[in-house]
Amino acid sequence: MKTKLCLLYGGKSAEHKVSLQTAKAVIGALDADKFDVFPIYISTEGEWIKGPQLQGPVEDIKVLEYKEGEAIAPNALSTTLSTANSTGSESYDVIFPLLHGPNGEDGTVQGMLDLLNLPYVGNGVLSSAAGMDKVIMKNLFAQAGIPQVDYVWFTRRTWEKEEDQAYEIAEKEIGYPCFVKPANLGSSVGISKCTNREELAVAFKEAFQFDRKIIIEQGVKAREIELGVLGNDDPQCSVAGEIVPKKDFYDYKAKYEDGDTALIIPAEISEGIYEKMKEIAIDSFKALDCSGLVRADFFLTEDGQIYMNEVNTMPGFTPFSMFPLLWKHTGVEYPQLIEKLVTLALERHEDKQ
Ligand code: ADP
Ligand code: MG
Ligand code: MG
Repeated sequence: MKTKLCLLYGGKSAEHKVSLQTAKAVIGALDADKFDVFPIYISTEGEWIKGPQLQGPVEDIKVLEYKEGEAIAPNALSTTLSTANSTGSESYDVIFPLLHGPNGEDGTVQGMLDLLNLPYVGNGVLSSAAGMDKVIMKNLFAQAGIPQVDYVWFTRRTWEKEEDQAYEIAEKEIGYPCFVKPANLGSSVGISKCTNREELAVAFKEAFQFDRKIIIEQGVKAREIELGVLGNDDPQCSVAGEIVPKKDFYDYKAKYEDGDTALIIPAEISEGIYEKMKEIAIDSFKALDCSGLVRADFFLTEDGQIYMNEVNTMPGFTPFSMFPLLWKHTGVEYPQLIEKLVTLALERHEDKQ
């Protein structure tokens, strides 16, 4: 019996193109003897469009961008998701959301799949939502005793009402340099580094364009080390990797456009630091009640201080992204990694029943 796998990709977020590339790579890696593959494309306008069952790898991502004419009406989503093919009434065995950012990685899609009682790869509603909101994530980490930089946060309304007071609090509690970020985003969108009041005011304005809530963090001079975590109740860690941005920090351009950020795997860190990071990565995974996978991102300062920066509940997943590369170096190739995630999805679904 083959597994009927539905790939959900595209989406309204800034990572639309990346998601298409991921879908193409995942399709190419799936064993045709084990999987029947069904695509659902989410357009940049947010329309869900069901494509025909795929017969093997696709040459170009354009093939995967189905046209609007076949769009699924929102009120028909549940029916569509409960039927794998146009003739049968059988549902998919598992859904793999290859989506990043809001409306994909933040628990919204996961909530819909829960309502339909469909198994899906990766994190559930709670961990996805908590991982997307940097303030909530940090609050939960603080409670679990996970080391992290100091932070404060503001809503747009409080800032609009008492602008100077917000800057004063940020300066008093955090100081310079600091990083200002929208609470609910990824891919470094809307993030600025500030070294004085003028920059702080500009950074607040910028971040509030993307979210009603922002976070201000103490800026550290540090290496950026990342670990892959895989599992459900007994999560395992990959080797560590290091990101070396050519710029001042790992901003959106460095992530997606320049392509000249170096990934060093395995990272050159001591065994002691690696062991400590593994422990913190697992504690973080558990603090957010994660399932399936996360990429745990750390700061490592010159004097050996480790800070948890964030976990990403749907990390970049092309074969050239950090998470799959970390697992490759740990001995899990891309096709195996996908199969492992599907197994974990089915296991977690069973657990929930
Ligand atoms: P995103 O979820 O968008 O990836 P991050 O919080 O990881 O947001 O920030 C993006 C990048 O900005 C980081 O990879 C790092 O280069 C830099 N950065 C973020 N916060 C800090 C900080 N507190 N100190 C130093 N650098 C930071
Ligand atoms: Mg992130
Ligand atoms: Mg990040």
